Amino acid sequence: MPFGSLGLCNELLKSVAEQGYTSPSPIQIEAIPVVLSQRDVMAVANTGTGKTASFTLPMVQLLSGGVSPQPQSVRALVITPTRELAAQVAASIENYSRYMNIRSGAVFGGVRIEPQISQLQGGLDVLVATPGRLIDLYNQQAINFDRLEILVLDEADRMLDLGFIDDIRHIQMLLPSKRQTLMFSATFSKEIKSLAKGMLNNPLLIEVDTATSAVDKIKQQLHPVDKERKSEVLIHLIKRNKWHQVLVFTRTKLGADSLVVQLEKARISAASIHSNRTQHARTLALDGFRNGNVKVLVATDIASRGIDVNQLPCVVNFELPYVPEDYVHRIG
Ligand code: AMP
Repeated sequence: MPFGSLGLCNELLKSVAEQGYTSPSPIQIEAIPVVLSQRDVMAVANTGTGKTASFTLPMVQLLSGGVSPQPQSVRALVITPTRELAAQVAASIENYSRYMNIRSGAVFGGVRIEPQISQLQGGLDVLVATPGRLIDLYNQQAINFDRLEILVLDEADRMLDLGFIDDIRHIQMLLPSKRQTLMFSATFSKEIKSLAKGMLNNPLLIEVDTATSAVDKIKQQLHPVDKERKSEVLIHLIKRNKWHQVLVFTRTKLGADSLVVQLEKARISAASIHSNRTQHARTLALDGFRNGNVKVLVATDIASRGIDVNQLPCVVNFELPYVPEDYVHRIG
């Protein structure tokens, strides 16, 4: 099926073609026409399925038809659980809407709030935000939601895992009840169903690429080893297989940092990414990993969710995750 049959405007088709996408992914085929019809959507889809474009493309199109944003107001709000995901979604929106008159931005914690307050002064068509910083900005009267048309909750399951449920409910109370709401989640647990029930109005349920299907496409290897010798074996594998880009998962921040020290001792360039590191340090680490200056990125689950590195050849589960779903997120 071509992108052209989904009801997207020429400006978006042009930028999609420039991304090199030749045909829409299953979630895009299902979600784009429904979002364009302004119906609420509950989509169960993982990172890597093309879910971001499945809501950003139709959302931008809907917004392009309306009135310009008022000062300090936003017309569409995308809430994400992590700063990295917020930055990534905002970059996609900017990319896709390059031939349209859409003002978008992102706000998240860990960086100064003042530039974000200024950014909001003129109003935005789309704001991508993490929950805590969004509430801070609202409390400082830097933003209002009176004219909000669309709300997107991205990676809602992660939002719950990270304890953002109260923030989400708080934000919901600040929003107009007449709006279009889209919710994306990798799982469809009891908690997600209950959250969806409270936030969505007669949603269409879209389910693609279940948690296990990602795993089917990936070759997995197990290396039995004593705990004390894990880093030694990892260093050996990296050197022997000449791995040039490896994402390694540890359970703890301390574990991540100590592994980085050991890798560097073995002359393997490495960086860690976890919630104790500043936003600047995380961005540097991720940029270095993407451009090849950092061979090994060591991450905890919280920091890693939604990180999108094109054609990542190798993921190592140095320690198993706390919950089984995270294993699927890690390798997917
Ligand atoms: P996501 O699931 O939104 O995290 O997207 C995963 C990756 O797929 C991103 O690198 C997108 O740029 C890419 N992508 C999204 N839609 C398509 C498509 N229709 N064809 C090829 N790649 C795509």
